[in-house]
Amino acid sequence: MKIERIETLVCYARMRNWVFVKVITDQPGLYGWGEATLEWHTRGVAGTIEDLSQLLIGEDPRRVEYLWQMMWRQHFWHGSGVTRSTAIAGIDLALWDILGKVHGVPCHQLWGGPVRDYIRLYCHLGGGNMESFYQTSTDNAAQFADLAQAAVADGFSAFKSMAVPPTMPIEGLKPIKAAEDCVAAMRDAVGDDVDIMVDCHARPSPAMGLQFAKALDPYGLYFFEEPCWPESMDSLATINAAVTTPIATGERLTHLAAFRDLFEKRGCEICQLDLTHCGGFTEARRIAALADAYRISLAPHNPQGPVSTAASLEFGFSQPSYIICESVHDDVPWRQDVVEEGFVIDPKTRTVKPNQKPGLGISINEAEVKKHPFQQETVQRVFYQDGAVGDW
Ligand SMILES: [Mg+2]
Repeated sequence: MKIERIETLVCYARMRNWVFVKVITDQPGLYGWGEATLEWHTRGVAGTIEDLSQLLIGEDPRRVEYLWQMMWRQHFWHGSGVTRSTAIAGIDLALWDILGKVHGVPCHQLWGGPVRDYIRLYCHLGGGNMESFYQTSTDNAAQFADLAQAAVADGFSAFKSMAVPPTMPIEGLKPIKAAEDCVAAMRDAVGDDVDIMVDCHARPSPAMGLQFAKALDPYGLYFFEEPCWPESMDSLATINAAVTTPIATGERLTHLAAFRDLFEKRGCEICQLDLTHCGGFTEARRIAALADAYRISLAPHNPQGPVSTAASLEFGFSQPSYIICESVHDDVPWRQDVVEEGFVIDPKTRTVKPNQKPGLGISINEAEVKKHPFQQETVQRVFYQDGAVGDW
């Protein structure tokens, strides 16, 4: 059995171009799907997949670890830069999909069978609609409350908001109070039984991140995400130690050694590794084993396309420390037209039972993908009050 060719299919989905990776073998009808979506770097990832494919054509797709090592170690550079680690991830996911199909079992069965009966999904406020999630102003606490109630009405028992405004490296009380008002409004709207998450998007400086974390600590957040950039790992550890709210981070880290540094410093309680950015299942399984040694939970980052979601679920059914699956469902109205999924979501509880189909259990509708060819992603920028460039 040999890899014959590797194709990328780009599907424009407003905020992102979904980059689907199709690894095709010389066996009739045997191919695997992966995803290597990297917003604002679509052309770079597609080119990197083409570069890496030169190492893989003619190789046996069942030698997944061997091929991962090839992609990571060959051609001088290691695969830790985000463009290359994303390209590796897309190919790696597709190779595991092929392996599941070869053996006629879902991926999670390859790794020892399901460790739980179901997985809970959480949504973004607005269901992944770009404007609702990213552009609801923290001056409008009532809108946060309305969107929170809508998420619960949609069946979700957990949702994520961006209730922290962008701030300059140091600001006074106003943004802290605005964030607190938004979280208080959401808590009032949905009660104590629903889990609320707040994502800072790594915008705050460590000093501001600490203030936001302390101000929101009394509201019992399920987790508080990226209070500062992971470049400031010591500061993440300081914030994590200063509050009872679990700190979540990891979506911007791309390889095992970076997670080792994060875990050693106790920079988080929840690891948000991204299966499409940190080298696919092969590297993610190593990161998960390391996290387990520290009793750090897993909640993979997953605002991307449908292959990424299927991957997160397969991973979740195999990992004891996995706690919840990030999901978006309203980013584009035709999302479900692009994919046929092997798992079924209970719309009343937004929980998922294990997929029974081989591999990732999905098939991509290529004709539907072709209706949404590459477009430049919508430019999104953050500026401080004085016009200086901030972190998006
Ligand atoms: Mg995030």
